[in-house]
Amino acid sequence: MTGKLLIVEDEEKLAMLLRDYLAAAGFEPSCLYSGRDAVSRIREERPDLVLLDLMLPVKDGMEICREVRGFSDVPIIMVTARIEEIDRLLGLELGADDYICKPFSPREVVARVKAVLRRAGSRTIQSTRLLLDEGRYLATVDGHSLELTAVEFKLLQFMAASPGRIFGRQQLMDRIYPDQRVVADRTIDSHIKKLRKKIAAVCPEDEIIHSVYGVGYKFEMPAE
Ligand code: CA
Repeated sequence: MTGKLLIVEDEEKLAMLLRDYLAAAGFEPSCLYSGRDAVSRIREERPDLVLLDLMLPVKDGMEICREVRGFSDVPIIMVTARIEEIDRLLGLELGADDYICKPFSPREVVARVKAVLRRAGSRTIQSTRLLLDEGRYLATVDGHSLELTAVEFKLLQFMAASPGRIFGRQQLMDRIYPDQRVVADRTIDSHIKKLRKKIAAVCPEDEIIHSVYGVGYKFEMPAE
């Protein structure tokens, strides 16, 4: 696997260790030791993935993640020194793709980078019951076409890429409207409602998009 990676980490030794491991795994990593220029570097260099430390001088990882999501879908792996922080970060719906807790083994980081890139790169999702082909904007359940709008397709694709994961409304909105257009919370609910209706029309027995009360939605496809 190849790709340009940006490591934003103020512990220089750790950053270099990661850089060496990731380079050995075939990636092209570069390092940044402060949060100050992270957003502009990401905008200019368009890396394929960003490893983003949470605690950074000048501008922290949370702020960077939020700003980047305003213009880019680049996969982001957040790195934090405390396991308890991960729950809090998940609650903030920053739009990060994965979280890694320090201390970690560089091998684990390489494995997570590969997993996130694989997930991000898969434009076609295919399981026994669901097919999502982005090239053709084709979505089928049990062989029945769903006739989705572009927004509905994107929503389903985003959620189906991580079955069982709960997505907050803000996270879904950031994905659908990356330009941060101001849209009401209910916009997502109404897209989801239509999406569910189309799914129910071809597959009335099963619920595939589940509401998680007070949090958001998740995709879960019952087995055949
Ligand atoms: Ca740090």
